[in-house]
Amino acid sequence: MQRKSLFSILSAAAIVAVLTGVWGSVDSRAVLAQDSDSSREQSGVAEEKAKPYRPKSKAQLRRELSPIQYNVTQNEGTEPAFQNRYWNNKREGQYECVVCGQPLFTSKTKFKSGTGWPSFFAPLSPDSVGTKKDWKLFYTRVEVHCSRCKAHLGHVFEDGPRPTGLRYCMNSASMNFVDQATLDRRKAEQDAAEKKAAESEGSDSTETSDEASAADDQ
Ligand SMILES: [Zn+2]
Repeated sequence: MQRKSLFSILSAAAIVAVLTGVWGSVDSRAVLAQDSDSSREQSGVAEEKAKPYRPKSKAQLRRELSPIQYNVTQNEGTEPAFQNRYWNNKREGQYECVVCGQPLFTSKTKFKSGTGWPSFFAPLSPDSVGTKKDWKLFYTRVEVHCSRCKAHLGHVFEDGPRPTGLRYCMNSASMNFVDQATLDRRKAEQDAAEKKAAESEGSDSTETSDEASAADDQ
């Protein structure tokens, strides 16, 4: 009797271990992304000072976005496969949030998935995107959104290529593509602005509020 109950405890433990192993991998990444969200909010001051984000009103979003962009980003809609801007875009550059402009993905991690949606094996940085469990279908999926403005981007699956084994299946409607030449130009302008700010900082070290607003402008 005792042996039997010990056996059932052991098998229950084994089932838990298997389930944890199976679900743990996506969950831990999801938790990781959520943690980075919350740690940003907690530690906040330094990072938020650099990039304050004021959520846009629904009315403003309706003005700025096309109907498909609005539906995908605000209502977790899905655009049609193969009938979207970037599924077959092979140009070098980066993909930014269509709502707030946050950089999300780079062409360096884009791969041919055959799904008809732009697919990436990793986000630009771990805290570019946040994730949450999605129960809309009969199985659970991991929903992916912009970590800054919470715009819906798509879903992440565990059948992607190496090195991550992940497939970020995104909607083109959630993103704007910026080509490498534009990125290089932006970088040069930013470097020039930083150099200028550093020079004016050197000339008047007591001025702190102007430094902060200069950082905001970038
Ligand atoms: Zn965003």
